[in-house]
Amino acid sequence: MVGERDEQCAGPSGLTLIVTAQLKIKNSKSKTAVPSRWRKEVQSVLITEAQIARRIKTLAREIERDFHGHEMVVVALLNGTVVFLADLIRQLNLPLRLDFIGVSSYGLGTESGNLVFTKELRLDVRGRDVLLVDDILDTGGTLSRVLPKLRKLQPRCIKVCVLLDKKERRVEKIEADYVGFTIPNEFVVGYGLDYGERYRNLPYVGLLRTEILPGTES
Ligand code: 5GP
Ligand code: MG
Repeated sequence: MVGERDEQCAGPSGLTLIVTAQLKIKNSKSKTAVPSRWRKEVQSVLITEAQIARRIKTLAREIERDFHGHEMVVVALLNGTVVFLADLIRQLNLPLRLDFIGVSSYGLGTESGNLVFTKELRLDVRGRDVLLVDDILDTGGTLSRVLPKLRKLQPRCIKVCVLLDKKERRVEKIEADYVGFTIPNEFVVGYGLDYGERYRNLPYVGLLRTEILPGTES
């Protein structure tokens, strides 16, 4: 994570960048057919269920290596992480505790608005190794508000894990330590990510048809 320095969580993390670089999703011209139930709303599948499952296994091995020997606290941001988180923690072969921070930024649109905290952390993370999980790193606005708040609770270290990274959109100087997939600058839904609270239950990451997203640039 870039920004204020945290003490390193245990273990080397040099491999992370190499593995992540191979998982760049270049465009939305996926050959995977959209399941018929969703064809009216979903234009294409950007990342399939199988690709996600494979990638999470690799991420889990990297996280296990880095957090080995310390009880970790997984802190997930609500609501977009729920599906990713459920799959990720079941692949983590480590003792861990889990808590949530509620943040809301999008409302009904596709552009970030004001960030509102809807739930505070309850677990004591002082002196602990924290894995902060979010669904997608976009401008970095969310993490740049959440990280200082978390640092005030004095964890031993914080590492950030996101399923998706839209690097082109970054405004804040923030990078994640573990990235599932780097994706192009397009508004995505599914696998926990919503548009107006819908589509979170799609088992893949997809793009909506333009008629569903009125007046957006992507
Ligand atoms: P940031 O604060 O980094 O700009 O955006 C982070 C948050 O915005 C994410 O946690 C997510 O809730 C939302 N977000 C950013 N890009 C997308 C997207 O393409 N699709 C959806 N559904 N949400 C997004
Ligand atoms: Mg979010």
